[in-house]
Formats: sequence, structure tokens, C-alpha cells
Amino acid sequence: MKRITTFLCATMLIQGVTAQSFIQAYKNRADMVTQANITANLQEFGNLGIKTTGSQANNNTLTWIKNKYISYGYSASQIVESPFTYGSATSKNLIITKTGTLYPDKYVIICGHYDTINGPGVNDNGSGTSIILEAARILKDVPTEYSIKFIHFSGEEQGLIGSSHYVNNVVYQGGIRKLDIKLVFNLDQVGGVKGNNNNTVYCDEDQGGVSSNNAASAAVTQQLRNCTALYSPLQTAVDPAEATDYIPFERKGEVITGFFERIRSSYPHTSKDTFTNVDPVYVYNIGKAAVGALQHFATASTNLTTVTKAASVNSLETVKIYPNPANDILHIELPVQTSNFSFEISNSMGRSMLRVNNEKKIDVSSLQSGVYVGILKVGEETLVKNIMIER
Ligand SMILES: [Zn+2]
Repeated sequence: MKRITTFLCATMLIQGVTAQSFIQAYKNRADMVTQANITANLQEFGNLGIKTTGSQANNNTLTWIKNKYISYGYSASQIVESPFTYGSATSKNLIITKTGTLYPDKYVIICGHYDTINGPGVNDNGSGTSIILEAARILKDVPTEYSIKFIHFSGEEQGLIGSSHYVNNVVYQGGIRKLDIKLVFNLDQVGGVKGNNNNTVYCDEDQGGVSSNNAASAAVTQQLRNCTALYSPLQTAVDPAEATDYIPFERKGEVITGFFERIRSSYPHTSKDTFTNVDPVYVYNIGKAAVGALQHFATASTNLTTVTKAASVNSLETVKIYPNPANDILHIELPVQTSNFSFEISNSMGRSMLRVNNEKKIDVSSLQSGVYVGILKVGEETLVKNIMIER
């Protein structure tokens, strides 16, 4: 079974790669995920307590997520709270819509649950929540051809209640499909296990349930793997889609994929699912992969100037990198005194050719003549410039 799977994946990878090339603008935006934001999101999520569906902490978490979107600049009309009942309790899904430029009525859904059980749920599913927030922050002003819905479900731990409610009452109304969904990309339990080498992420492929959508899931899951390779340092493996919020969509024939941690934590659903027990660097890396993939799925703008503008902060606008074209030595002149910066040169395929830390005179004599992309990082700020080598 394993051998067959490997063979099929290798074949598909070849097809996938030819259809999907590296896009520098996507990489730059993936690199806008910050470790500081991911860590803060995970810690804040943890501090909100045990978010049992229908509890006060559950409701407080919804408000916390909503306030994040408001702080990113999303308008009230883009943010919808969708209540549902669970026994005698009421809880809410939170849905944020960003309208597409070319296909405003076709949606890419990125989702994950925020309710937890028995513990603060920093891994399950503060990790997915933190990443969806970063994706929404970064893509806020980036045009995408398809509309995106960022959805935070509740009631997952009681049996996918929030996502089932959404599918049966919002996507479908009176048995009629009201929402044209391109695909559903779910993130659940991507926190990793602290102290382990968390270098691989599972990409969930639909291998059961309704069979008519399996091939389409295999295709988008392969694209997810390609994006992970292109825009993050992680490796991928495929696992069968299982009990999480994409399942109610799958049952209706929608196309699904998702991320899940490869080294599986035993802490979810216990009081030990805390910040201390997750690997924040792993979440950060999966965040990059997710932002890369979401741009691919929603066909984000490939315009580099938009990115540079969004990424640049005033202090980096006066940076000088010279001479350009360069021969043997490239100089970096920073407007501020700092001993904490890095500079990386990638070729047009996005392959890193050279990387230095805190060096203002960079030896580029090993590079062949051609056009490269230089990425300067000073603290949280990023500057992207085309660099030419000529000799
Ligand atoms: Zn979960």
C-alpha cells in the first residue's frame, strides 16, 4: 500500500510542478508571517482558558478573534457571527469574507475550529487559529481572483457541530447549494511536539466518504504539497482526511484538503495542551506554507511592487544596495545602526544562492551573471530588490 502511494505521488508531483511555478510575490508574502505574531497569538489563545462550546471562555475567544480582524482593517460588513445551538447552549461560528476580483461568487474557504475541550487547546486548535489570523492579516489588501472566506468554527469537539451547521444552513439552504466553493482548506492541530524535529507536515487527502470528489482532493492536496515545498522549509507527507471540520463539506461533495501535524501530540483534549508543549517554530513554518498555498488557491496578485509596498516600512525605503549591476562585491547601506540584519539572494526559481548575517560587504563573485532577488530583513521589516550580476 505504501509503495503504491509513493509511486502515485511521485507521478503527480511531476505533473504538479510543471503546472505550478514559484512566484516571488507569494514567497514574499509567506515570509511576512512573523514568529512574534504566531507566538503572541498562541499565548493569547492559551490565556483564554478552556473554550468548551457554549462557555463564556468560548464566547470570549470568538470576541478575541473578531477583534484581531478589526485590528487588521476588516470592516464590520465583512465579519459575520453565525450562531447555532448545541443542547441548551449557544455558540457561534465566525466568518470573514474577502471579495475576489475576477470570481467574486466563487469561494476558497480556509478554516479551523477555535473551541477546545478539557484544556486551553493551544495545539488543538490554537495553532490553526493563529495561522488563519496571520493569513488574513497579510492578505487583507492583496487582490485575489477568487473570494476567500476565513472561517473559525466552534462545536468541533462535540462532533463537528459548527461546521455541520454552516454546511447545512449557509452553504445549503432548503437543499439548494447557495455557495459556490472552489475548495475547503482546513487547519487543525498543527502545533507539533516541543523538543521533536517537527520538519514535516501532513497534507490531508480525501480518500473516503463521497467518492466523486476524491480525485479533485488529490489534485489540490498535491498543490498544497508543492506550495509547502515552494514557500516553507517543511517537508510533506499525505494522510487520509479524517474527523475535522472539512468532513461535513466532503459529505456534500466539496473538494477538501488540510494540514495536520506529522508528529502527533498526545496532549490535545487534556489540560496539558498548553503553549509550553507546542513548537511555535513549527506553527510559524506551517504558517508560511499556508499563506503560500492560500495565495495559490485564490490566485493572488503576482505583482511584486504591491508586495514591496505592503512589506516595506519607512525606515527601509532609503536602504542602498550597490552597485547594481554588481560584479564581485555588493554593498548594503542601512539608514539605521543595527547589528541584526540578514541578506539573502535567490535566483529566479526562488532557490537560495547566498545568505549572510550582519554583513555590509557581500562577496557575490560565486554568482553567475543574471537577475536575482535580494531580500533584506532588518528585525521584522523586509525589503525586496532585484539584484543584477554582470561581469
Ligand atoms: Zn481539533
